[in-house]
Amino acid sequence: MKPLIGITTNHSTNNYGQPLVLLQQSYVKAIKQAGGVPVLIPSLVADDGWDALYARLDGILFSGGGDIGLEHNPGDPHPRIDDVDPLRDSVELSMIHAAASDGKPFLGICRGCQVVNVALGGTLYTHIPDQLPGALDHSYPGNMRTVLVHQVKIEEGTHVAEIFGEPIIKVNSLHHQGLKDIAPSLRVAGHAPDGLVEAIELPEHPFGLAVQWHPEWLTDQERTRNLFRKFVEAAEK
Ligand code: MN
Repeated sequence: MKPLIGITTNHSTNNYGQPLVLLQQSYVKAIKQAGGVPVLIPSLVADDGWDALYARLDGILFSGGGDIGLEHNPGDPHPRIDDVDPLRDSVELSMIHAAASDGKPFLGICRGCQVVNVALGGTLYTHIPDQLPGALDHSYPGNMRTVLVHQVKIEEGTHVAEIFGEPIIKVNSLHHQGLKDIAPSLRVAGHAPDGLVEAIELPEHPFGLAVQWHPEWLTDQERTRNLFRKFVEAAEK
């Protein structure tokens, strides 16, 4: 049986103002291509059902999305903090705490990388251009998702290095927040030329890692398909 990979989701509304569960298909396709069965996780299970869903999933992908609510202490208040979803924060924090302790494989992407760090006790730049002196432009929104805009230097001896097999890779970048203080249990696995951390991992975890860029848009690259394959393989065990 193929492993079930849960993917966390955004909320939105349609043209009539009716609420939607929303997810870019790129995540679903990347998991399918890697041999997993994607299962969308609606944030509405936050108060009831998240744990029953979690127990049935073989791995969790924490996807990209809006910013984390200030009540979870991600960092300083900033007027550009946007698209906060308290239910999504709740589901993701609960699932990260569970997966970090029970060894269920997880992959964080963009917001997913940030929420992993915050869940485990780290902090964020809540708006990089105003808080990280000398920062590169990390925000290439809209149709720039497949454009490689900055390098990431991968740390030797990390799980991320093993997966990508190259010391320096070029990545896309669509984020206005970023990792600041890294949670004590996490190891830095890669950073951008301006020093911003772009990859983290739990060293002793079977597969617990997160990246700040968007690999789900780069599956034309063999090394990126390998990231999703290794994740799904870990979930299969
Ligand atoms: Mn970046």
